[in-house]
Amino acid sequence: MIIKVTKCSICGSDLHPYHGDKIGTNDYAQPMEKFCTGHEMIGEIVDVGKAVRNHKKGDKVMVEGGKGCGECLPCRMGKANICLGYTKGIIGTAYGISPKLNGGHADYFQVFNADIGAKKNPRRSYR
Ligand SMILES: [Zn+2]
Ligand SMILES: [Zn+2]
Repeated sequence: MIIKVTKCSICGSDLHPYHGDKIGTNDYAQPMEKFCTGHEMIGEIVDVGKAVRNHKKGDKVMVEGGKGCGECLPCRMGKANICLGYTKGIIGTAYGISPKLNGGHADYFQVFNADIGAKKNPRRSYR
């Protein structure tokens, strides 16, 4: 699913790559490919894949900060932030922090596992 990013905040975690810190296995002092930071974003859906059931083009959503595996129990409960894949080191953690997992400081952003990785707020329209 692709969203047009409306807003993406700057978190203290975004500064680790900037300062060349080390977080877990990610050592930002080492040479790495350029990537986009940002893991706290809202936006409007501009495209959905065939497998996406909970969202449609035009919906305004907030995006989970991390990419869950989409299959473990926490992920299936909509809690990708505590995905079991994180503790096993199988998958990347947060968008824009894990190398090669681009973040939302961009005009457009791809949300993985979109049905659980993005949420609509039924009481509020994000702007
Ligand atoms: Zn953060
Ligand atoms: Zn998971």
